[in-house]
Amino acid sequence: MMLDPSPGKHLFGVVGYPLQQSLSPLIHNWGFSAHQLPCTYLAWSIEPQYLPHFSVALRTLPISGVSVTIPHKKHIMPYLDRLTHTSVRIGAVNTLYWQEGEIWGENTDITGFVAPLLSRAKNIFSALVLGAGGAAQTCLEGFRRMEIGDIWVSSRNKSKAQAFAVGHGIRYVPWNRLEEMSADLLVNATPMGMKGQSETTLPFTPEPHRFPLVYDLVYNPVQTKLLREAEEAGCSTINGLSMFITQATEQFRIWTGEDLPHEDLASMLQEHLTSN
Ligand code: NAP
Repeated sequence: MMLDPSPGKHLFGVVGYPLQQSLSPLIHNWGFSAHQLPCTYLAWSIEPQYLPHFSVALRTLPISGVSVTIPHKKHIMPYLDRLTHTSVRIGAVNTLYWQEGEIWGENTDITGFVAPLLSRAKNIFSALVLGAGGAAQTCLEGFRRMEIGDIWVSSRNKSKAQAFAVGHGIRYVPWNRLEEMSADLLVNATPMGMKGQSETTLPFTPEPHRFPLVYDLVYNPVQTKLLREAEEAGCSTINGLSMFITQATEQFRIWTGEDLPHEDLASMLQEHLTSN
């Protein structure tokens, strides 16, 4: 086990705000139980103004590992001892772990994002990303690794999207001109279509001659309106559950050295999401 030694049960958790719909406790406690590890994983809903207090708790409580989610992925970085090369490139962490008495920040979202694209990489030369936040930044790092050079971004906030495009050396397309776009891959990196959050979706339905592959990072519901419409139109699709499972599996491996079986986990989560 790669945990810092602490007596009794090892404590893990996810820090974010708000946290009502986090599936992380379900996944990691399922994994700890499957591997019979003496660990427990909690949900820590910490408002942004209390993040400095949480960072003190990180060092004073026997916490062995943490998942970090919105809105803390960037803001927690200054409180850590070390950052991996990947997390620095993306500018955000989603995983904290101890190594030789120091707290490290890592980003496993990138592995999760790229995983379902690898088998299709030879057909992807261009991509359009919707959204200009943290997940969009992860997409760009993924495209860099896959050597996809023709990248466009669009977001409802024009000035933010333009700044994002300039900052990353990619091209910008206005939100109200999306229907003129085409690319090998369309990625939704906004919360559009997410359960209980935003019923809004794209102002057009993707079609295979414009977007042969549509990837929605939203994983609750597993089949979003965007994916349903894209599938009905004949596009290939990828849902966000695969990314979510892979990033969690990678965290679990960093903390425990053990694997989580992807298919069993996917079935368990699909069942959970359908019944809730
Ligand atoms: P973020 O940093 O808050 O950025 C969200 C982006 O979406 C911003 O550009 C925002 O624009 C835009 N947006 C928000 N609501 C919108 C709406 N109703 N219509 C159109 N655009 C909207 O969030 P993030 O970390 O990038 O995450 C984005 C989404 O990715 C999450 O909601 C989550 O579903 C998904 N995600 C999935 C995984 C996974 O493992 N599958 C991992 C990370 C993220 P404004 O600046 O105008 O608000």
